[in-house]
Amino acid sequence: MRREKSQSLLARAERVIPGGVNSPVRAFRAVGGTPPFIVRGEGARMWDADGNCYLDYIGSWGPLLLGHAHPEVLSAVEEALRGGTSFGLPTEREIELAEMIVEAVPSIEMVRLVNSGTEATMSALRLARAWTGRELVVKFEGCYHGHVDSLLVKAGSGVATLGIPDTAGVPAAFADTTIALPYNSTAAVEQTFARYGDRIAAVIVEPVAGNMGCVPPAPGFLEALRELTQRHGALLIFDEVMTGFRLAYGGAQQIFGIRPDLTTLGKVIGGGLPIGAYGGRAEIMRRIAPAGPVYQAGTLSGNPVAVAAGLAMLRYLKQHPELYAQLEERTARLAAAAPPGIAVNRAGSMITFFFTPGPVTDYESARRSDTARFARFHAWLLERGICFPPSQFEAAFVSAAHSEEDIARTADAIREFFAAEAAG
Ligand SMILES: *Cc1c(COP(=O)(O)O)cnc(C)c1O
Repeated sequence: MRREKSQSLLARAERVIPGGVNSPVRAFRAVGGTPPFIVRGEGARMWDADGNCYLDYIGSWGPLLLGHAHPEVLSAVEEALRGGTSFGLPTEREIELAEMIVEAVPSIEMVRLVNSGTEATMSALRLARAWTGRELVVKFEGCYHGHVDSLLVKAGSGVATLGIPDTAGVPAAFADTTIALPYNSTAAVEQTFARYGDRIAAVIVEPVAGNMGCVPPAPGFLEALRELTQRHGALLIFDEVMTGFRLAYGGAQQIFGIRPDLTTLGKVIGGGLPIGAYGGRAEIMRRIAPAGPVYQAGTLSGNPVAVAAGLAMLRYLKQHPELYAQLEERTARLAAAAPPGIAVNRAGSMITFFFTPGPVTDYESARRSDTARFARFHAWLLERGICFPPSQFEAAFVSAAHSEEDIARTADAIREFFAAEAAG
């Protein structure tokens, strides 16, 4: 496989962009080699500068549930573009998207649009602190909630991939407002509430973790979070930036039947354009300016182009509810390609092959993975035109554009890797 053009683009990029990339995990440092520089995507495929074609399981790290350049998303974007890209005044489309989100996500009564998942979690925490008049936030090790200062503690995703211990530039005073506990440990949460219960503003959690690789919640874990936060007057925040509209139309909270106080969204709701949202109980959301005293704003928030893409995406998903079962079934077929001794975690269209016997239930058990072996797996697939996320600690995403044949070809390549490995 030729890589010359990507190699020279990386060298050029490194002169003007830190590490050559605008988001760290794109740099392929954890798996070695050069990231392919992409020129075009369509459906489940993308093409790089050297003309190589890849079946894509990164899916822009979550947004592309329908694959690249979906015709309905594209035509909605084109139509919106012609009408102007931003006004700094409200538009009807924003109401439509808000109404669709409120209708879809069980716990959301009101919603505010922002420009990224990071903005959504940052704003939700500010709101939770204002609502409760408390400062502490409980998060879970290996969960990623964007690059919010106070949440970059044991933050999963790129931080885990690059082995960065404590992020430089985050004041201790910010980090000190965060308590990081092991995912799936109800006992740790109980002990923490017993000790700091009246100081905790919120518990923020990925209801299905995707940023230490895919780690589903243990039975009873989310229920315990709901019960403990309620009992101690803290808010429960579901960070559904990855899982929202991906695991089900109503997100993970629909599947598990739990109503958090606040929910953050992003990724899928923008159909591949920059967007984020946070929403929840109306009485809490009414504290946001200009309705209330919690300030949060954005020049391009709710811009017509991103909103049009999101609307097209959600309308398509609403009209095709059968899609979720199909995605899950195709993902299960990928999982079946792994031999014993590999812990495969999956939920809906999210999947991770952990190179450890497992079980992988939290950050500590995820970190037992053999990352050098994962890097060989990744390179093997890439060489065969199959692009998995370049990190052991990220979920791979199956999209509705992956055909039966695409899945079969990927499962075969996975089997061949393990067979070749066993043959030495
Ligand atoms: C991706 C992600 C974020 C951050 O979203 P950005 O749009 O990258 O800022 C936050 N939380 C979760 C769970 C995510 O997966």
